[in-house]
Amino acid sequence: MKKKKVLLIYTGGTIGMVKNHLTGRLEPVDFDNLLSQIPALKKFNCRIDALFFSVPIDSSDAGPETWLKLIKLIEKHYEKYDGFVILHGTDTMAYSASALSFMIEDLQKPIVFTGSQLPLEMIRTDGKENLITSIEIASSDKAPKEVCIYFEDLLLRGNRTTKFSSEHFDAFKSPNFPPLAEAGVHIEYNPKFYLPANRKKTQFHKTVSDKIAVITFYPGIREDQVTGVLENENNKGIVLQTFGSGNIPNQDWLRRALDKAIQEGKLILNTTHCIDGGVEQGKYENSAILSEVGAISGLDISLEAAVTKMMFLLGTYSTAKAKRLLAEVLSGEMETNQ
Ligand code: ASP
Repeated sequence: MKKKKVLLIYTGGTIGMVKNHLTGRLEPVDFDNLLSQIPALKKFNCRIDALFFSVPIDSSDAGPETWLKLIKLIEKHYEKYDGFVILHGTDTMAYSASALSFMIEDLQKPIVFTGSQLPLEMIRTDGKENLITSIEIASSDKAPKEVCIYFEDLLLRGNRTTKFSSEHFDAFKSPNFPPLAEAGVHIEYNPKFYLPANRKKTQFHKTVSDKIAVITFYPGIREDQVTGVLENENNKGIVLQTFGSGNIPNQDWLRRALDKAIQEGKLILNTTHCIDGGVEQGKYENSAILSEVGAISGLDISLEAAVTKMMFLLGTYSTAKAKRLLAEVLSGEMETNQ
């Protein structure tokens, strides 16, 4: 049997950082050197090649530029490798994984994001297991051909995850979608939850728009705060984080402001700030307002997926097409049967 090949891409994050004993801060280091200290990597029955960002970043600095860099690297090496493992800081990993899930269309190979809460150089690190199991998954024929996050025993669909804990090793949750695999003594794959296999040629999209904004509702939000965002010329798409199953205050000024923004051609996506469950627009009078003005229901989409889907669609298609696709499931990011 042909030996499998996995490409490891190190972008930065805690996993590869070392404590600077003078400042007490965690700083990125020479990752090549760190890898050489993990003898288990040599025992794999697959070839592992590694690429590093020349300047490793804290993932709080990751954004569209990072996503494009990753997409270009994966496209360049796509034919040569059977799977990809991306080492990334945990803070914005769910955003990067979501962005790639939309920007790489008809993916035919596994892309597994992972990282750690404690650096690899620390004795109690969670990074070693995360890294080793991610490589095992990326080189397996049984793995989903999707963008995933592997963290603390669970393989999750990337665009369904959210960083949940800054303290515990199980830092990520996927409240609205079951794990694609669970690692114990064996790795148990759950193919019934995979995206359907497709034979289309993989497309690597390379445009995103930053002309979006998020409004998080809270009791007592002021009119000028909302209209400031809705009326800003630079915001072509606005993600609303609303209450419960998609509700907003029943105020005339708010209805007028949303109506005006939509009439001007802005896209409004209604998502809930509950991490579990989704929007049911029209269930209450306070969400029917959103249907009446023409806001799109984000169903049970996460904030990370909503933001990156909006950025991808507005950067890639006409507003009319972006509006239509916002309501459609592109990469398993939301349920349709609510
Ligand atoms: N601040 C780090 C980062 O996201 C945290 C981590 O990697 O866990 O890059």
